[in-house]
Amino acid sequence: MPFIELDVLNNKVDGILGIDLGTTNSLVALWREGRPEILRPADGNGQPLQDARIPSVVHYPANETPIVGRNARARGIEDPERTIFSVKRFMGRGLADCTDDLASTPFAATENENGLIRFSIDERGETPQEISARILHHVWENAGVALGMLAPRRAVITVPAYFDDSQRQATRDAARIAGLEAVRILNEPTAASLAYGLDSKNHGTVAVYDLGGGTFDVSILSIEDGVFRVLSTSGDTHLGGDDFDRALVETALDELRERIGLEAAREPAFLQTVRLAAERCKIELSRVPEADLHVVDVARGLNWRRTITRADFGDLISPWIERTFDACRRALADAKLTPADIEDVVLVGGSTRVPVVRERVTEFFGREPHAGLNPDEVVALGAAVQGHVLAGGTRDVLLMDVTPLSLGIETMGGAVSKVILRNSPVPAQATDGFTTYADNQTGIDFHIVQGERELAKDCRSLGRFKLSGIPPMPAGLARIAVRFLLDADGILTVTAKEDSTGAESTIEVNPMHGLADDEVEGMLLESFAHAKEDFDQSRLANLKVELGTMLKACRTHLPSVVDELDPEARLDLEEAVAAAEAARTGDELAAAQKARDELERASLPLAAILMDSVAKRALAGKNLDEV
Ligand code: ADP
Ligand code: MG
Repeated sequence: MPFIELDVLNNKVDGILGIDLGTTNSLVALWREGRPEILRPADGNGQPLQDARIPSVVHYPANETPIVGRNARARGIEDPERTIFSVKRFMGRGLADCTDDLASTPFAATENENGLIRFSIDERGETPQEISARILHHVWENAGVALGMLAPRRAVITVPAYFDDSQRQATRDAARIAGLEAVRILNEPTAASLAYGLDSKNHGTVAVYDLGGGTFDVSILSIEDGVFRVLSTSGDTHLGGDDFDRALVETALDELRERIGLEAAREPAFLQTVRLAAERCKIELSRVPEADLHVVDVARGLNWRRTITRADFGDLISPWIERTFDACRRALADAKLTPADIEDVVLVGGSTRVPVVRERVTEFFGREPHAGLNPDEVVALGAAVQGHVLAGGTRDVLLMDVTPLSLGIETMGGAVSKVILRNSPVPAQATDGFTTYADNQTGIDFHIVQGERELAKDCRSLGRFKLSGIPPMPAGLARIAVRFLLDADGILTVTAKEDSTGAESTIEVNPMHGLADDEVEGMLLESFAHAKEDFDQSRLANLKVELGTMLKACRTHLPSVVDELDPEARLDLEEAVAAAEAARTGDELAAAQKARDELERASLPLAAILMDSVAKRALAGKNLDEV
């Protein structure tokens, strides 16, 4: 019997929201149909947003109503002078408590008669509570959009375990100003533990390891008859994933400074390009054992890449991981415990997705951490669990089933694109984008597979279906969304939909049908045994597809600009094309990689001429569609 009741007359949803009011991002969840669920507003296409995080950012346009969330963050990049980030750092504090943090805010700050901070924004003055209230109100509105009706006004709101009374009171005040009732202020680590159902233990000791973008927190909790107590906390307010990015940025700059000069390598726009490349590489490394750190700057004719392995990355970030353990040792010492006393370890924060972080945490505590839930979402999920309990609901069984094997789709070239990852809590859904490979291709065959191996032929085949009715267009332009929905009963529904016509096709399969536990285990073991070889094969398959696309682009564009290329560059390009063609039919990863890099380098002059001619024609008054 679902707990949620639709109040038809008032069109509102009952229940108590769980809100993770974060420093960088906020998130909202609600208990629905027997489990906590992240409320995801729809994207432009009516699909629920995969990344439901709402930036905790407020932008103040001159003489207009402030803007909150994603739009505020976008404006903040262009107009930092009128935008406030990280307001959580000021909640319930006085000027003297946070001189360092104040240096990075755009607004002048004064103190009111109660010793609390007040920011001056034009003629307006706003306290951190009022600014947080804007964020909370926006989060509440988003919840309503996701629910399709009025969201509950009662909420459990989470705060760091180290928040003192006045910081907690400030959070309550923010809720009140936003028109919400904070029925409970809950510690973030407690929320994360609730999300994993640790409250069902009679007694135990838990370590919550929270590594985000800019901060690290560790908390040691005890559980007695389902009640959590914070034994100690420690951390570092300036340690996190941003440091990992910086380590990669330095690696790139070591070489790039020589290429483009010291001055150019200091330009903010260039540094931003490198920083984004670093974060992309880092995130990719959480998925695959090696990834390219790839910096492109066409204006400078720069196309630089370097392959980073997980081992390289592990060495780079090791000092920061070590610092998190210094904090862990302090927290344990304060609680008069050793790592061996910890029975459960819970991971929170986006940076705990880094595999080497997980490995080192496992080593440090001598046990596997809980990691089945999305570490960005556990705090909001746990707050929703608490909301459910406070609303009088019960939770008999732990409904935290996970899917034991990844589910994915075979891609061009025989590799597998995993859509729902192993260990995702059920129900789960995810969407992946596909496109056509040939010009005027009107149909695509989809092959759904299960398993951890990288090539479709080594995975278990679950079914095939076809999407037809794609309107003829050049290769790569069609946009096809393939949505995987794994319901609570374990039935997988896969739907492919073409954007422009809405043409759609669906298949339903049962991934666990005829699959015994020991077979699952066998498939996992096999995937570990073949990890390296699989990775190489999948990389080769993808490289061949990439080479095909690049060769096609060269053949299309070369004839029209061949006269403008200087003879040396032309010869160079022709050689690279020939090598790429050979590599595409060969079976060697290193050769394919080299051919791809060579072709990329040799085609830069071609790209520059093409860009130039587009720009010239645009300047001549034609619009780009006519070019
Ligand atoms: P905060 O608590 O500071 O708001 P989050 O918990 O949202 O931060 O974590 C953000 C950090 O997590 C960023 O540094 C981001 O680059 C990193 N991150 C997000 N996803 C991944 C991933 N898949 N692999 C590695 N790092 C990731
Ligand atoms: Mg966080």
